[in-house]
Amino acid sequence: MKSFMKFVFVLTTAVAVSVFSLPSVSASEQAEAVQSQDQTAAVQNASSKEQVKKKKTKKSKKKAAQVRPATSTEKADTYQKGQAAHDDGLSVYNPEKDAAPSEGLVIEETNFHFTEPLLVRPRTDMIVIHHVGIPDGDTPAAAIHRAHLANGWAGIGYHYVIRKNGVIERGRPLAVVGAHAYGENYHTVGINVTGNFDKEVPTDAQMKSLTELVTALCRIYHIDPGPATIVGHRDVNSTDCPGKNLYRLLPQLRDDVELNIYAEKLKGTHLLKLKKYETEKP
Ligand SMILES: [Zn+2]
Repeated sequence: MKSFMKFVFVLTTAVAVSVFSLPSVSASEQAEAVQSQDQTAAVQNASSKEQVKKKKTKKSKKKAAQVRPATSTEKADTYQKGQAAHDDGLSVYNPEKDAAPSEGLVIEETNFHFTEPLLVRPRTDMIVIHHVGIPDGDTPAAAIHRAHLANGWAGIGYHYVIRKNGVIERGRPLAVVGAHAYGENYHTVGINVTGNFDKEVPTDAQMKSLTELVTALCRIYHIDPGPATIVGHRDVNSTDCPGKNLYRLLPQLRDDVELNIYAEKLKGTHLLKLKKYETEKP
């Protein structure tokens, strides 16, 4: 019965989202990229840049196809994509061997299908915080995924989405290159906190989950929390994202994450000492 109710809820949400939110979500990403008046062609529209980049990749894939005759369309397609990835010096993500360590948190798995092979992120030294922008309110990862697909992207560009109730939803697998901060995707993890924080304020549940998630990521990737490593989207691209009301909470977030990590370290030390004491006892 419970699962049936959940199904009905999910179905209702999905319908509501597709009816009301979808076009606006994709509009938001566009809006997010063009909010600032002083933007030049270089940064005018992250979406169109992504598309230009894609077209270029497609061109190089076509070239690869001319050189190597394929046994079947499907095989060729996979091969070309693999080849393009190889050309970039990055390997195609294989969940069996490339999956990132567990966050140690409850993450709502979404198992989205991506239209292109995902690439393994070569390094990770920064976490970029986003908001949805327009629309405001509680946008599910599934709606963002569909909107990004509609943009012609491989699927949702963020690694995580944090809902109003604090639930953390998976976007892309943690280990792969995201599509959330132009020019910075190859060394960053992208977290979207749902809402429009130019108007709204993040919920306490969202900030709690964000703190726990960023703490886990700092631990996994040995990131020192600070203004250079935990940033708002506006710190790396010309955009108002993640909205003033979330952006002003980032110093507090960094402090809280630092305290968490310090506490974890202390705990470790204490346990080690205790263990040593126990083994040294006659
Ligand atoms: Zn953003």
